[in-house]
Amino acid sequence: MKDIFFRKQVLRRPGPLRRHYDVVIVGGGSHGLATAYYLAKNHGITDVCILEKSYIGSGAAGRNTTIIRANYRTPEGAAFYKQSVELYEHLSQDLDFNLMFSQHGHFTLAHSDRSLVVQNERAEVNKLLGIDSRVIDRYEVKKLCPQINIGEDVTWPIQGALYHPPGGIIRHDAVVWGYAKQVGRAGIDIHQGVEVTGFDIRDGRVHGVKTSQGDISCGTVLSATAGWSSPVAKMANLPLPIVTSILQAFVTEPVKPFLDKIIVSAQMHIYVSQTDRGEFLIGAEVEPYPTYSNKGTFPFIEYATRHVLELFPQLHATKILRHWTGLCDMSPDYSPIMGVTEIDGFLVDCGWGTYGFKAAPITGVTLAELIATGKTPALIEPFKLERFYTDTMVSELAAAAVSH
Ligand code: FAD
Repeated sequence: MKDIFFRKQVLRRPGPLRRHYDVVIVGGGSHGLATAYYLAKNHGITDVCILEKSYIGSGAAGRNTTIIRANYRTPEGAAFYKQSVELYEHLSQDLDFNLMFSQHGHFTLAHSDRSLVVQNERAEVNKLLGIDSRVIDRYEVKKLCPQINIGEDVTWPIQGALYHPPGGIIRHDAVVWGYAKQVGRAGIDIHQGVEVTGFDIRDGRVHGVKTSQGDISCGTVLSATAGWSSPVAKMANLPLPIVTSILQAFVTEPVKPFLDKIIVSAQMHIYVSQTDRGEFLIGAEVEPYPTYSNKGTFPFIEYATRHVLELFPQLHATKILRHWTGLCDMSPDYSPIMGVTEIDGFLVDCGWGTYGFKAAPITGVTLAELIATGKTPALIEPFKLERFYTDTMVSELAAAAVSH
């Protein structure tokens, strides 16, 4: 972490790395930080350290495209993400840190009759759970987002959309810094540049972690390592049904603000929003091959720009400014994996794929409760690792593939 963050007193400098903590959290992304924050805030548990091999927010937390929404397809998923959006709505005040959350509405475009059926199913599930979500026709799409091209002269003309007014975007770095600031104030140490290299597991229980700066004993370990979950769990001899792939995104040079909605098209494999800085932020679907190499590809730029220009021809002369990738830990049913494992005291938080940033607050709340009480909260019970052995998967493919 750059010195400036300590100088400006955003972050508290940690004390020396101790040889024992009650709880060790591996990974200083949005989930690890949120869990530490709610451990302190909701349960008064502060004998905790976060071990981060690089710097906080260096993983997907600082690379994502910041879409926050609750309009999922399964009742389990929608109920879970609904509570996360509600926590995000008050998070700036809660953390005393401006997160620049703007809920200006989210469209999932439908380009076929079949897609409209799926969007209607999602809207019905959402309404039953009190989530503001409805299907609109192409003319209402145009009315709410006058800049979009609803013409027929494109590869996949727009037929309608699932409209989700509470959907929004936020400043992702601020979420990381805001949580980190309050975690530090609670007396929890965040040790950056400390890599976990193994675990001390005996008699079916975790007793500690091995790190690049020596061994630490502890009662509970939470692996909140997202794209690195499989290699980390492997050190504990714990097989996870996770495949890691990359997701790519790019921003254009800043242009005059003209888009205040988030546009997602699963058919076109793209999503678009305009940031507070005026950049167009464009992302796609996860790449279909497993890798830990954060290398971007030209085919992604080519197909993403082609489709974006069909939706927004006004951008034809706009230059691409930056292009990056991040790791995504994909689970077979596109739902997260959270909670206990066959190793006592060893908890996992993974399977966040391309959609986990929006879940950080509620993940933190529920995992902190699990650590504090030893009981799995009802909200995350469906997302246990055990579901892959009991054939009780939660298929979220219809609402989580491209729609981050
Ligand atoms: P991370 O930030 O990846 O944190 C994991 C941390 O663990 C890393 O900092 C890593 O360095 C650390 N670590 C790994 N191994 C070790 C070790 N051995 N020892 C110590 N530390 C270790 N989600 C949304 O909700 N909305 C979106 O719009 C969205 N868009 C995305 C766009 C892109 C391009 C990408 C890549 C992801 C996107 N996501 C989105 C997904 C979301 O970013 C992730 O699911 C979420 O950030 C994962 O949780 P995290 O923040 O805790 O992970």
